[in-house]
Amino acid sequence: MVDYVVYGRGSFNQLDEIIAPHRADGKPMVFLVDHFFEGKPLVNRVPLRDNDKIIFADVTYEPKTKQVDALANQLKDEFGSVSGVIGIGGGSTMDLAKAVSLMINNPGSSADYQGWDLVKFPGVYKAGIPTLSGTGAEVSRTTVLTGPTRKLGMNSDFTPFNQIVLDPELTANAPVNQRFYTGMDCYIHCIESLTGTYLNEFSKSYGEKALELCRYIFLEKEQWDEECDDKLMMASYAGGMSIAYSQVGVAHAVSYGLSYLLGTKHGIGNCIVMNHIEEYYPEGVAEFKRMVEKNGIDIPQGICKGLTDEQFDTMINVSLGMKPLWENALGVDWEKIMTREKLRALYEKL
Ligand code: NAD
Ligand code: ZN
Repeated sequence: MVDYVVYGRGSFNQLDEIIAPHRADGKPMVFLVDHFFEGKPLVNRVPLRDNDKIIFADVTYEPKTKQVDALANQLKDEFGSVSGVIGIGGGSTMDLAKAVSLMINNPGSSADYQGWDLVKFPGVYKAGIPTLSGTGAEVSRTTVLTGPTRKLGMNSDFTPFNQIVLDPELTANAPVNQRFYTGMDCYIHCIESLTGTYLNEFSKSYGEKALELCRYIFLEKEQWDEECDDKLMMASYAGGMSIAYSQVGVAHAVSYGLSYLLGTKHGIGNCIVMNHIEEYYPEGVAEFKRMVEKNGIDIPQGICKGLTDEQFDTMINVSLGMKPLWENALGVDWEKIMTREKLRALYEKL
C-alpha cells in the first residue's frame, strides 16, 4: 500500500514540505511531469531546489520498457542516483515514475521484471500526483508497461508510491472525452471487481463506494463541477484499492490485446470493449451505455476492421495470457468458456 496520502484542493502547494525529509545530500529530486503541462502555470509551482530536475514525460503512447530504461539510465549517468522521483500526470506518467524509481535501484531492463514479484530491490523514494482521475495507478502495486514481448506490469510490493498527493484542482482542465474515458476506467474496475470470483469484503467495501461515486458523477449530476473532480479523485482511489485485493476482468483482458497490437489507450480501449460485453456484465454494460449517452461521448466502432488473421491471433494471445483476469471474471474453468474462437468473434465486433 501507499505509505502516506494527502488529499485536498490546493494540497499540491504542500509538496515542498512533503518531500523535504526525503532529500538526500547532493542528490536531486526528479519531477517527471506529463508533457501536457510544459509551459503551463503548474510547472512554476513545482518546488525545485538545487540540482533538481524536471523531465517532461511524452505520454503520446503508453509507457514502454524502453522508455523507462532510457529515463533510468539517463538519471544514473547524470547523477549516479537521485533522492526521489515525483510523477505528476495521468496514469501513464504515474506508471513511468514508479517504474523509473524501481529501475534506478534494480539491474538490467524493466522488461526483466514484467510479471509478479520479480523486482529485487526497493526503488528510490517515489511520490505520485495524479492530474487525471480513474486509473487507480496512484494506489496500485503495478506499473503497466509495453515490453518487447508483452504488455504487463511490474507487479511487486516495491511498486506502490511512498506518498501520493491527491489535489482535485489539478484535474480541472482535463478534456471532456479524456476525463470520461479515464473515469470509466474506474467504473469498469468497480464492475469487474464486484462481479468477480476473487471478490472479498476488502475489495467489496472499496468497490461499492467507488461505484456509488461514479453513479453520482456520471448519471446524477447535471453539470460537471468541482464536486465531480473531488469525488472522481476519491472514486479512483477507492476503485484502485478495490482491484488491489481482487482483479479486473473481461474488459481489461480484451483491451490489453487492442493496446498491444493497435496502441489503443487504456481508458478508451476499455470503453470500446465494455460496449460489447453485455454477455458477461449485463447490468454494468447497460449502465455504462447510459453514462455514455448522458455525457454525450462517442465510443469508436470498427477498430478491428480489416485486421489479418495473424493480427487477431496476436491480440488473442496477449489477452488469453492475462490468466488471473479471466479466472476472476469467469471462474477456474474460464478456458472452457472463453475459447479462441469466441474471443476472435468478440474482437471482430469491436
Ligand atoms: P494518460 O496518463 O495516458 O493521459 C492521457 C492524456 O491526458 C495525455 O495526453 C495527457 O497528456 C493528458 N492529460 C493528463 N492530465 C491532464 C490534465 N489535467 N489536463 C489536460 N490533459 C491532461 O491517461 P490515463 O487514462 O490517466 O492513464 C492511462 C495509463 O494508465 C495507461 O498507460 C494504463 O496502462 C495505465 N494504468 C495503470 C494502472 C495501474 O494500476 N498502474 C491502472 C490503470 C491504467
Ligand atoms: Zn484499468
